[in-house]
Amino acid sequence: MTGIVVVFDFDKTIIDVDSDNWVVDELGFTDLFNQLLNTMPWNSVMDRMMREIHSHGKTVEDIEEVLKRVPIHPRVVPAIKSAHALGCELRIVSDANMFFIETILKHLGLRDYFSEINTNPGSVDDEGRLRISPYHDFTVSPHNCDLCPPNMCKGLVVERIKASLCKEENKRIIYLGDGSGDYCPSLKLGDSDYMMPRKNFPVWDLISRNPLLVKAEIHEWTDGDELERVLLQLISSISVEKPNNFPFSADCKLETLSVASHEAFPKALPVPH
Ligand SMILES: [Mg+2]
Ligand SMILES: [Zn+2]
Repeated sequence: MTGIVVVFDFDKTIIDVDSDNWVVDELGFTDLFNQLLNTMPWNSVMDRMMREIHSHGKTVEDIEEVLKRVPIHPRVVPAIKSAHALGCELRIVSDANMFFIETILKHLGLRDYFSEINTNPGSVDDEGRLRISPYHDFTVSPHNCDLCPPNMCKGLVVERIKASLCKEENKRIIYLGDGSGDYCPSLKLGDSDYMMPRKNFPVWDLISRNPLLVKAEIHEWTDGDELERVLLQLISSISVEKPNNFPFSADCKLETLSVASHEAFPKALPVPH
């Protein structure tokens, strides 16, 4: 093992579009979706949209067919397989949902490459309707992070990952993302970690305003070609360094303490093999 955990955002990072928009647009519900976005949080709109789509006679199989056509850059799948072959542990932190992500990963033959998927639950109910719920039940226990949408703070997920890694050994995180929801986790990375923001996307804009706020080393990328090149270069440059040649992170204890107060948060759903 390289001691590297690669954390991927999903929408516009692994796939080239937003999976929620893709499904809604492809099934012809864009106008209703945009109307509802003015009235409730995105994650709640998606659950409502699944009700509308179901009531118009569209089945879960129709949704799966749309998901299997999702555009993905041809170098992304090889990049993921290479990172895995080089001994990295791969995880996903996404504000999409488990049903969309697992359907797409299975279709791409990638599901078993990821040890953990942290995302909004998504499952099919008895009536055959897809239900999407928040990662984090904000009506019961709000996460109190101003940077993140109410249903999911990715920064808390990264804090939990960091705390669990500290317990084992000194591992490093490489985080890849594009959206404004990836900014909060980028602030939680440590100075031995790496942040890969997608250039000219919201997280890159936010980081660019004050790059000094991010302790991790920043490596931008624009498309799947660059994602592959930058990620594999980073992995090989970390791998040739002497392992553990930096002191055991002094902030491990603090990170663990700060995460312990969030134990009410849902744990990551492990991917069954
Ligand atoms: Mg994204
Ligand atoms: Zn947050």
